[in-house]
Amino acid sequence: MDYKLWIDGQWVDSQGGKRMSVENPVNGAIIAEVVDASREDVDRAVQAAHRAFYDGRWSRLTPAERSMALWKLADLLDARKEEFARLESENTGKPYQLVSLGGDLPFSVDNLRFFAAAARDTHGYTSGEFMKGYTSIYRREPVGVVGQITPWNYPLMMAIWKIGPALAAGCTIVLKPAPGTPLTTLLLSELIAEAGIPAGVVNIVTGGNETGQALVEHPDVRLVSLTGSTNTGKKIMKTASDTLKRVHLELGGKAPFVVFDDVDPETVAGVAAFTSTVNTGQDCTAATRVYVAGSRANDAVEAIVEAMRAVKIGTPYEDGVQMGPLISGVQRERVQGFVERAKSSGAKILTGGAVPAAYDKGYFFEPTVIVDADQKAEIIQSEVFGPVLTISTFKSEEEAVAYANDVNYGLAASIWTRDIGRALRVSSQLEFGTVWINDHIPLTSETPHGGFKQSGFGKDLSAEAVSDYRITKHVMVKNA
Ligand code: NAD
Repeated sequence: MDYKLWIDGQWVDSQGGKRMSVENPVNGAIIAEVVDASREDVDRAVQAAHRAFYDGRWSRLTPAERSMALWKLADLLDARKEEFARLESENTGKPYQLVSLGGDLPFSVDNLRFFAAAARDTHGYTSGEFMKGYTSIYRREPVGVVGQITPWNYPLMMAIWKIGPALAAGCTIVLKPAPGTPLTTLLLSELIAEAGIPAGVVNIVTGGNETGQALVEHPDVRLVSLTGSTNTGKKIMKTASDTLKRVHLELGGKAPFVVFDDVDPETVAGVAAFTSTVNTGQDCTAATRVYVAGSRANDAVEAIVEAMRAVKIGTPYEDGVQMGPLISGVQRERVQGFVERAKSSGAKILTGGAVPAAYDKGYFFEPTVIVDADQKAEIIQSEVFGPVLTISTFKSEEEAVAYANDVNYGLAASIWTRDIGRALRVSSQLEFGTVWINDHIPLTSETPHGGFKQSGFGKDLSAEAVSDYRITKHVMVKNA
């Protein structure tokens, strides 16, 4: 399959852009060719979004009209969810069941329905007489043309998390998916048109980091929203400062999973294994740092190792498969490199750490448990983005909090305890955008998702996401 760019409601040829191949990570086969968009292509897409914003074909619709189009988009995606799930599985190697029934697709449909409703929320619009003889009106207006840049780990869902709130707010969009995983985002363009969202409101340009850079530099883009790594977030923030754009950054994570001594480690081992290997550990909220009360350490290590060994690796349609390959050869080398460096710095690999013998084609990697790593070691401090967890111990509540907070990231954390006082006390001390108590990983469309510290700022999901795409204008009327 050979794709073009989706600009102004139609497929267009690139102006001087190169082509890029898209692979299936299960076996490395090339499954599509897409455009590596040039600076001219990006400019053309931004101009289309700019015209669409300023002539009001979307921004001046009533909230109800925008809501209806988003609802229709949700219905269309729901009706074609198996097709989208198959394509997403092919492009990412994810287990089909996890994408179709268990996760990405139903959740993406629900996200769109939430944003359809949120489009009609008038919270924050107010007026009043704050000075004698004057009426003040606050208007929450759409920011304008937004540039949105997504990663490869949940390609369709990340695209929905970007376009949903921006469309609800009335913005127009140029979206750039990750270079290796653009296929479901490109397919979404058909549904966007069918839902009656006018031409030019959502434009999709495929390409690599330079394409993204051109979007961030473009003077007519008012806000850039990135989901990606912390390093990319830092670069984008610097580039955006030249044109003083707003930035909205959903970046990396290194989630702690803190198990206190009143919880039986065997009851949490399965959750630790699931939440560190889901999406092959390529999840920004993956439980990657397990901290266990010292008194329960032996039981915890044994139970978690057993649960990690039980995770079923496989190709997308194999029976009972829980974990597919990593996204690419480059990513597998990265993960392997982290494990090797942990080993040479004195940590022990209790299980995993290698390519599974039965899956030597494609980019598979075994679920891996590492112990005896120093709190300051790279394997504890850096995001690996693979099915790798460390287990460490703590002696007191204070030490648990200190270890959990002792990374640059601050996206998500979980605490496991039956003591409600401790759960609330510790949750208030943790510097993370989400803290789960007695679970790890659930999300809903209503709840804000976003980081503290170097995990970024701004929220995806929830009414807060829509608010991030609006700007407040004060209109002051002299009554007399
Ligand atoms: P990445 O940072 O390498 O790339 C993300 C996107 O940014 C891609 O589309 C890429 O082409 C683009 N990009 C890269 N450099 C750019 C530049 N200089 N200017 C403009 N665009 C540029 O990330 P990735 O490897 O695709 O994804 C994995 C990362 O995403 C992990 O760090 C993960 O934690 C993070 N992530 C975060 C969340 C969250 O909600 N916080 C969710 C999913 C993934």
